[in-house]
Amino acid sequence: MTLEAPTSSTSDRLPGAAAVAQWRSRSGPWLDVLAQRVVTADPRSEIAVCAPWTGEHLGSVPACTSEDVALAVGQARLAQQAWADRPVGDRRRVLLNYHRLTLDRQDTLLDLVQVESGKARLSAFEEVLDVAVNSRYYGIHGPKFLRDRSHLGALPFFTATREVRQPVGVVGIIAPWNYPLTMAISDALPALMAGNAVILKPATETPFSAIAAVALLEEAGLPPHVCQIVTGRGSELGTPILDSVDSVCFTGSSETGRAIAQQAGDRLLPCSLELGGKNPMIVLADADLDRAVEGAARACFGNAGQLCMSIERIYIQRPLYDRFVEALVAHTQQLTLGAALDYGPAIGSLISPAHQAKVHRLVEAAIAQGAQCLSGGRPRPDLGPCFYEPTLLSQVTPAMALSDTEVFGPVVALYPFDDPAEAIRAANASPYGLNASLWTRNLRLGRQLASQIQCGSVNLNEGYIATWGSVAAPLGGHKASGLGVRHGQTGLLRYTRSQTVATQRGVAIAPSFGLSPQQYAHLMTLALRLLRHLPGLR
Ligand code: NAD
Repeated sequence: MTLEAPTSSTSDRLPGAAAVAQWRSRSGPWLDVLAQRVVTADPRSEIAVCAPWTGEHLGSVPACTSEDVALAVGQARLAQQAWADRPVGDRRRVLLNYHRLTLDRQDTLLDLVQVESGKARLSAFEEVLDVAVNSRYYGIHGPKFLRDRSHLGALPFFTATREVRQPVGVVGIIAPWNYPLTMAISDALPALMAGNAVILKPATETPFSAIAAVALLEEAGLPPHVCQIVTGRGSELGTPILDSVDSVCFTGSSETGRAIAQQAGDRLLPCSLELGGKNPMIVLADADLDRAVEGAARACFGNAGQLCMSIERIYIQRPLYDRFVEALVAHTQQLTLGAALDYGPAIGSLISPAHQAKVHRLVEAAIAQGAQCLSGGRPRPDLGPCFYEPTLLSQVTPAMALSDTEVFGPVVALYPFDDPAEAIRAANASPYGLNASLWTRNLRLGRQLASQIQCGSVNLNEGYIATWGSVAAPLGGHKASGLGVRHGQTGLLRYTRSQTVATQRGVAIAPSFGLSPQQYAHLMTLALRLLRHLPGLR
């Protein structure tokens, strides 16, 4: 963690100091207890975790080594077999207990997520929602997805064919810091439902939310060692994890995703990669202005813009452009920034001063090259070491790094357009393809335009949460935004291996009963011609 703690006298005066102090007095030594859940042989080498609201030290977790990863994977392998052997109904019960516990204990989880990541409470609540929805969905539907399936056999009536789903074994989950609860646990739930064990490596900035989530899973009935946590730097733990697990689910930047894919490729390791985005919003002239403005602000500034699905480019059809921009500026200027363990402030802090500096560098460079800042554009040291104002820019050109770099902060560029085809071209002119948003009252046109957008997720008259929250549907990135999908049946089956078991009865699929090869070929040709016309047998 690169947070440089302000001096205690400075941090005491920051608005977040009271909230962090209040949380400390309530949580006591809880973080030390959580840190003991990390699998390590040498707890002395530590990584400090800081509170982004103030920069103060919160606690420490072990800096795990490759030996620790080996230990964690070894224990997980032993635990996995017994877990997979349990009736699927037992695993279902654990997930549904977890659903209840997550909702019951939400205040404790929300506080921890906020203190550790610096986010606003509503953004933290999205994490609780997401975990609850995924545990309910996979708890209820998982058993059905895992059932053996009959398929049409090679020779109808004589070949009985079944598809069996087996867990892969140990799944590695490598998670980012921006949604520390969701990203650590929601992808683990279908893996566990399928009978796998999990090795979880949370981001160095936010390990405690992930550890608390696993502690709650064990309270819900998950046996010890089935979900193991290792903490430490990705650059050190990535290779040992990829060398020892049976499948990996990585969420993070496209740059790291490429490195993971290369290593996974060497071992032919199944991997799903959920990566970055530079997500466009298109607002057609007939859009409901008030809803579009409110939706845009939520999609651009929710979680202070530190959301893979968040909108960083808005294309507005010219007849609406001036009114939209004016209304968005007014809306943005009313958004409150702050640090509080309640639903007061709309926007929280960025994760670290280093990240804030990156965001500000991109904004300053764009302004120096001619972009116009319509709102925001400044760090807010009076609020804390990494707060940043929600920022609206116009006249951003392709020459500016901000136009195609993922900012991952509360910064959005606004562009006018005339013809929808022009907006689609601009939206698609990005190496990324994660999420897009389109606003129009003409839903037919909206769906038609959606089909032309090169993104794995398109929200009509919403920013991102409609597709994200529809967990029954697969969700993943196109182009540099990812490989594979989470959610839906595919989101669970990615953690299984299929085995096809076919039983041949009575007749061999070969010349038999005294038929010559030529007679057999003739008979099979006739049968094939016939089968094509028989519903249920083709
Ligand atoms: P990151 O790639 O730097 O780190 C993500 C995780 O990978 C962390 O746990 C990190 O420790 C680990 N890591 C780093 N180097 C590694 C390596 N060489 N081998 C193995 N693991 C390594 O990303 P970040 O800065 O933590 O997160 C922000 C990025 O994540 C953004 O690009 C954002 O769009 C993306 N993201 C994508 C989704 C999605 O669902 N598509 C969701 C959230 C975040």
